Amino acid sequence: MKKINVAIDGTSGVGKSTISDLLAQKYNLLHLDTGAMYRCVAYYMHIYQIHYENENELKEALNQIQIRFSGKKVYLNGEDVSNEIRSNDVSMLTSKISTYALVRKKMVSLQQDICKEKGYIVDGRDICSTVLPDAEVKIYMSATSEARAQRRYKEYCDKRIEANYDVILKDIIQRDFQDSHRAISPLKKAEDAIEVDTSNLSIEEVIEVLSKLIEEKL
Ligand code: C5P
Repeated sequence: MKKINVAIDGTSGVGKSTISDLLAQKYNLLHLDTGAMYRCVAYYMHIYQIHYENENELKEALNQIQIRFSGKKVYLNGEDVSNEIRSNDVSMLTSKISTYALVRKKMVSLQQDICKEKGYIVDGRDICSTVLPDAEVKIYMSATSEARAQRRYKEYCDKRIEANYDVILKDIIQRDFQDSHRAISPLKKAEDAIEVDTSNLSIEEVIEVLSKLIEEKL
């Protein structure tokens, strides 16, 4: 079988991570969750109260950050932060700090370095356009904001986490706006990426559609 990279972009809450995990298992690929990397950076800025608007402080902080994945867990400077980085506050801060050129430069170069041997499925916002423009498979997953808020609401309820649908929907719309209006690498479908609208598809149906696209390249 040929060694390939699969790039998946899409909005918040569209299910990129879940789908990438399942496809990674199915095709023996390694899943690189780039959102988790930006989340680690935001979490670091938050816990150490870094004034990230100050370029020198931001640079210094970025030099201190080490991110490592092990299975489904993500470690920030050796500490397992897999749960902490998923809070709503960290999500909102991540969307803000990921607009900084220094942050993006560091993350993109780390990601490119990790994937150079191929065999990765990488999900994020700028993967098809910036991180892996030469990936063998390039996909843009979309879904209406309501469909995504509904899924996230159900996920919180299933996990017995207190949740409010209207707040979730508002945050999703705000994050979409921030992610698609930033100056550097805004969230946008790359011209040669294939769009898959998942609003009315089950997880199994999304896997079926994407599997076809992957198998064409193996
Ligand atoms: O995918 P996830 O929701 O975990 O990403 C969190 C945030 O990280 C996004 O809202 C976006 O601002 C940022 N991000 C990014 N580029 C990526 C992945 C994530 O800017 N490749």
